[in-house]
Amino acid sequence: MKKIPRALVEGFQRFREQHFERNDGLFQQLVKEGQTPKTLVVGCCDSRVDPAIVLDCEPGDLFVIRNVANLVPPVEGRAGHHGTTAAIEYGVRILGVEHIIVLGHAHCGGIGTLMKTAGVTVPGSFIDDWMCLVESARTSVLKDMPEAPFDVQTRECEKRAILISLKNLMTFSWVHEKVESGQLTIHGWYFDIAHGQLLKYNKENERFEDI
Ligand SMILES: [Zn+2]
Repeated sequence: MKKIPRALVEGFQRFREQHFERNDGLFQQLVKEGQTPKTLVVGCCDSRVDPAIVLDCEPGDLFVIRNVANLVPPVEGRAGHHGTTAAIEYGVRILGVEHIIVLGHAHCGGIGTLMKTAGVTVPGSFIDDWMCLVESARTSVLKDMPEAPFDVQTRECEKRAILISLKNLMTFSWVHEKVESGQLTIHGWYFDIAHGQLLKYNKENERFEDI
């Protein structure tokens, strides 16, 4: 059996010193009053794009859901176990978040694989089943920019996949109603890990712009 990485144990010791032994009261307050995050983030599992680190947030600030390629499925039948959907429902209905950010990123492994393999890697792959949620992003990119280099197509696919997730969010009645009544706002953001830029989708001109 492999040993638990030493760096993680040391990391926890530093975390403990900074958050408990300094007695800044943050965790005591969060335990006493519970969590009241105003923002729900749907981010990617990718180890390089932790939303709390990228957005420099404190414990209690963000309700974070991470999955392969930061996807939101549309409303579906009750069969199966809908982890992402259940977490979004918890954030919206129980915690009453005011914002949902779908946080995509450049050089996403999930999107890269979808582009390279057309969504067919190995038979029975759960990843293939999951990534087919944004297959239309891939096909639309290939149709609209067939001559563009693969990297450019892939960056575009990463962005179009965010828009599909924004659309899928609105298929849930409890999201739709809160957006309509102004209690909830949904955002599409894109973190360019190569250039250290954060882009935001602008509905008016249908472009991703520097935030
Ligand atoms: Zn990713």
